[in-house]
Amino acid sequence: MSTTRHQSRALPALGEIAPDAVSRPAPGVADQDGAAPKLHVVTFGCQMNKYDSELVEGRFRKSGYVTTDRLEDADVILFNTCSVRDHAEERTWSWVGELKQAKRERPDLVVGIMGCMAQRVEEEIFKRAGHVDLVAGTRQFHLLPAMVEELKARRAEPDRFRAKDLRLLATDMAEDVPVDRSGEEYTGGLHAHLAVMRGCDLSCTYCVVPTTRGRVRSRPIEELVAEARWYVSQGVQVLTLLGQTVNSYGEDFPAPQVGPAPEAGAARWTGRQGRPSLADLLRALQEVDGLVRIRLITLHPSYVTRALAEAIRDCDKVDRFLPLPAQAGSDDVLRRMKRGYTLDLYRERVGLLREVVPDIELGSDWIVGFCGETDADFEGSLAFLEEQGFVLNYIFKYSPRPNTRAAERYEDDVAEDTKKARHKRLLEVAERTQRARLQRYRGRELRAFIESVSERDGRILLGRTHHGLPVSLQGPAELVGTTVHLRVEETTAYGMAATLARGPARIGLHSAASEALGGQ
Ligand code: SAM
Ligand code: SF4
Repeated sequence: MSTTRHQSRALPALGEIAPDAVSRPAPGVADQDGAAPKLHVVTFGCQMNKYDSELVEGRFRKSGYVTTDRLEDADVILFNTCSVRDHAEERTWSWVGELKQAKRERPDLVVGIMGCMAQRVEEEIFKRAGHVDLVAGTRQFHLLPAMVEELKARRAEPDRFRAKDLRLLATDMAEDVPVDRSGEEYTGGLHAHLAVMRGCDLSCTYCVVPTTRGRVRSRPIEELVAEARWYVSQGVQVLTLLGQTVNSYGEDFPAPQVGPAPEAGAARWTGRQGRPSLADLLRALQEVDGLVRIRLITLHPSYVTRALAEAIRDCDKVDRFLPLPAQAGSDDVLRRMKRGYTLDLYRERVGLLREVVPDIELGSDWIVGFCGETDADFEGSLAFLEEQGFVLNYIFKYSPRPNTRAAERYEDDVAEDTKKARHKRLLEVAERTQRARLQRYRGRELRAFIESVSERDGRILLGRTHHGLPVSLQGPAELVGTTVHLRVEETTAYGMAATLARGPARIGLHSAASEALGGQ
């Protein structure tokens, strides 16, 4: 395994620390009472961050740490951060700021920042928050346990290391993140995330992600199947496959050598020039025994292919729900966003999906108030949302991000009040559309996977239909982790209430079931 240097820029060399040096309990980690040191991770942002937080926790556990839910008990506190909108960064600064006093009272405490903000802001973090000890970028966070040990070693030699030497930074972008879950315990229950790739090779002009997460690196199918099997061995039944453009999976692999046609029965990959694609990965995961549901986040219209649609059709474990963000309903805005499609191309790709999988449901993200968005452009978003009948919508007000093309080239010329008003209006149309879309399921029988018992009411079970739509019903807790047939009784803009249609008992709809919908 390669070694990576991580060092504060102002420092004498740290020495090189092999990433695998942290895969055994580190000597001297336990505190004076012999108790294992405690880690608390605060996660902001997207599912990819949740996955990375799990990876970090796993690595710390292998180094002899235990995780704690109580921030005030922790010896090491990590913030896994998001930079997508300014608001996300401001929240992090405020949380981190609150630790200043704690650090004064407990100088041994270690505070670290990882994730997109660590990558974007780098050593500036130390200037703005002097009590932060460690900064690890989006491809270096696996080094954090080793960085903590290095920090402790330095703290133990105050004559040798000055205050500024006690800040460690690792933000190199070059490497993959090594993932090895062997020997780990998964404590997240029935559901887990699986990052099938990292980074993004597109360059939407508003978006900071290509800078913070780097170029795409897809993980080999065998490695992903092995991780899926490991998850299943830990009790997981539902996997959400993660990628910024998850359906571009495999595009970065080298094209296979042109040679004789594969022998009968040998794998034929369906990606560009014979590369493995998401369709191939879905078919491989479909064969993993014990895995029951497969979900996808997030797709891009440019990479929707017939092979993908056919894989979704053929693999009954894959949810009939695709998050396929449109972002805007105006070709002018899409061009300025550099999204790489027009509305007609988007329609064409959805047409292909619906031709092969007629009952597919779609979700979308929207940005309102992007640079130069006119009233007519915005009306286009309202119309496109309704036209496509998106069943789930996330709506954001445009937030200019440093070093993005939009921030550099275009004026953020839509007034904040207008952004707010457009956000509200699009949300109203989204809710109306979602309500109408879900209403179509009333009285129908659907399959659903039951995921949990409601925290608010122990009689209510929560699950998702095979369209990935939230559903609640009254039933016994033993149904958690099973697939049931249910009849949809009531719907809102955000989910459904149902009764068991076939199963151990037919249980009437309780009013609490409809209450539960409100909170989903
Ligand atoms: N890769 C995904 C895609 O292309 O759809 C989404 C990634 S991004 C983390 C999630 C959502 O945040 C985007 O779909 C977009 O709607 C929103 N977003 C990204 N940059 C933004 C910005 N500068 N201002 C407001 N919303 C933004
Ligand atoms: Fe950002 Fe566009 Fe990449 Fe999504 S596809 S992460 S919005 S650059």
